[in-house]
Amino acid sequence: MTISPPGLTIDLTAQGKQIGTFDVPLSVHDDAWGVIPVPIAVIANGTGPTVILEGGNHGDEYEGPIALGELIRNIDPADVSGRLIVIPAINYPAVQAGQRCSPVDGINMNRAFPGDAQGSATQQIAAFVNDVLFPIGDVFIDLHSGGSSLDILPSAIIEPGRDPERHAANVAAVRAFGSKVAVVIDNRGDARTATASAARAGLTVVGTELGGGGTTSIDALALCRHGIRNVLAHVGVLPGQAVQIVEPALYALKPAAHVIAQDDGVLETLHPLGTQVSAGDRAGRIHFVTQPSRPPVDLHYRSDGIVFARRQPGRVRPGNCCLVVASPYEAP
Ligand code: CA
Repeated sequence: MTISPPGLTIDLTAQGKQIGTFDVPLSVHDDAWGVIPVPIAVIANGTGPTVILEGGNHGDEYEGPIALGELIRNIDPADVSGRLIVIPAINYPAVQAGQRCSPVDGINMNRAFPGDAQGSATQQIAAFVNDVLFPIGDVFIDLHSGGSSLDILPSAIIEPGRDPERHAANVAAVRAFGSKVAVVIDNRGDARTATASAARAGLTVVGTELGGGGTTSIDALALCRHGIRNVLAHVGVLPGQAVQIVEPALYALKPAAHVIAQDDGVLETLHPLGTQVSAGDRAGRIHFVTQPSRPPVDLHYRSDGIVFARRQPGRVRPGNCCLVVASPYEAP
């Protein structure tokens, strides 16, 4: 069976390695009949699971796109048992701009799922992933980093499964990724993320948060490269190379995980990522640098756990997320 929705330049069912694009129509002032050429590769051989690997959902998170480009270039289809569908720069306009959201329509792709095939550019790309790719997928790996506004402890992310069996499959795949820390994140219950959508479609899901700060990190990129290979071996698409399972410490984000600024000023944080902290501890200060007679305002943690993420820009406004604490995971 050939699967070729409009705009897709490759056949999702063909054997071997194909590299092409999913072209989303874009009619704008300086290009009446143009397209957004979203890169996509399919590497298939024989029988086995289909793994969808996504990078660039946020355009300022670079470890995933780099590692997935390497995977596309380096993998020999003869080593594959099943199929890899690799979309390294899924929100192409955002990746080109190095921005979290698409400059075409201003949309955050990770709040656009399940997408809309008749909607704006980002909604159309999300609909392609949701409507065309997820139904033929078994496993979804969504590679995020902290982006421009956050520096995050490099970690694998567990999408809470809807039933115990699915949850266990997600935990097992995340363990294979090989990070020291794994965090259950439900994005405050938001159902519009790529991973939540994949979980609804019944796929095994692995997420990541790999560094951030709008740059690349040596440690996070190394973890990303190994982690992808480890998960692909774990699900049987690549040969069973020695998967070194480092049992990750399991954490979750509680509702009180986030330390939010109440003031306009400059943020000082007090603890490196990974520091053990307790609810009530002083987390940082907001300084009023143009008002030297005004003392700074203290910020406090609201959960026990480890410092998981810290805001990257120094300037803060009321409502900005300054710090995030990951708490030890308690099975429901
Ligand atoms: Ca992200």
